[in-house]
Amino acid sequence: MTTPYLTIDLDKIEHNARSIVDICNRHGIEVAGVTKCVCGHPEVAKAMVRAGIRVIADARLENIQRLKSAGVAAAFMLLRIPALSTVDQVVESVGVSLNSELPVLAALSSAAQRRGRIHEVILMVDLGDLREGIWPDDLADFVARAIELPGIRIKGLGTNLACFSGVVPTQENMERLVALTRDIEETLGIDFEWISGVNSSGLSLIVAGHMPAAVNHARIGEAILLGRETICREPWEGTFQDAFALYAEVLEVRQKPSSPVGEPGQDAFGGRPRFEDRGIVMRALLNVGREDVDASGIMPLDPGITVLGASSGYLVVDATDAEKDIHVGDELGFSVNYGALLAAMTSEYVKKRAYREGAAVPC
Ligand SMILES: *Cc1c(COP(=O)(O)O)cnc(C)c1O
Repeated sequence: MTTPYLTIDLDKIEHNARSIVDICNRHGIEVAGVTKCVCGHPEVAKAMVRAGIRVIADARLENIQRLKSAGVAAAFMLLRIPALSTVDQVVESVGVSLNSELPVLAALSSAAQRRGRIHEVILMVDLGDLREGIWPDDLADFVARAIELPGIRIKGLGTNLACFSGVVPTQENMERLVALTRDIEETLGIDFEWISGVNSSGLSLIVAGHMPAAVNHARIGEAILLGRETICREPWEGTFQDAFALYAEVLEVRQKPSSPVGEPGQDAFGGRPRFEDRGIVMRALLNVGREDVDASGIMPLDPGITVLGASSGYLVVDATDAEKDIHVGDELGFSVNYGALLAAMTSEYVKKRAYREGAAVPC
């Protein structure tokens, strides 16, 4: 296998998924497994399905197509608000989508009717994270209009927190979501099936026993993939944090100064980097760059190596204190955070090496 590559331990992902599903199920919450951070990698989705997940959610229709073509045995949910220009594909590809705009719902309604189908939707409510969703003041009018649309069935309300502004799910905002749901059900004489409350940031609230019982649906990605809750990024008990690792190859390793020589100006990305002068150091150049990874989101697996930065195609590390000798041609491994994983999965230059119990799985 040529470098760089990303290893994906499918057994660890399955284990993580099982552990998250168990916790949520014990609290009456169904889990949709979110694959957007791995670009809808079919083997990852299959690992989630083996762990008991029945619905796979992804933000991109292309990813959902890939999952379906690969025969992933699940129902599919579109996590991102559909673009008006994609309603036909949405109705074709998924049973459920998240929505917040009437023109889109109207178009989904027509698309569903043309196919003689019912398209299910979760209406997203913005409880303060200020990304997608209907503001609570506008909700009652919105739902009153949405239920009139033929071919559309409102499965319930949902909210997404801790993604854009970092607002955390609390007992208060979850109770607010439940109250909004009950209000609307009563006013309009309808029953919603789902209250889709949280993503990985809601796990702590669930295990603390502070999640209102009416919240019965969660959409979980990072906690399954990287084994962390996402408020403080603490490792989640009973999960692995190292299901993924990025490997790159050493292209150059040389003693050079730690501080740049010459007149300082901008780097390739318009930044003005500063480097601590530590005298002469052992610098190594590796074959991943900003095109493949977020250099601030990776950690060398070998002790004593530190990441200095990256340009589009190179990663530069300080290997002065490395415990092992570093040579040209060596592969160095790195752990990845959410942003780095997303970039590495998206980069076509990073090969994906998914395996189970030592057996490589074609990807
Ligand atoms: C990405 C996303 C999720 C999953 O978030 P994680 O933090 O990975 O669990 C859930 N819901 C929506 C709407 C999303 O966009």
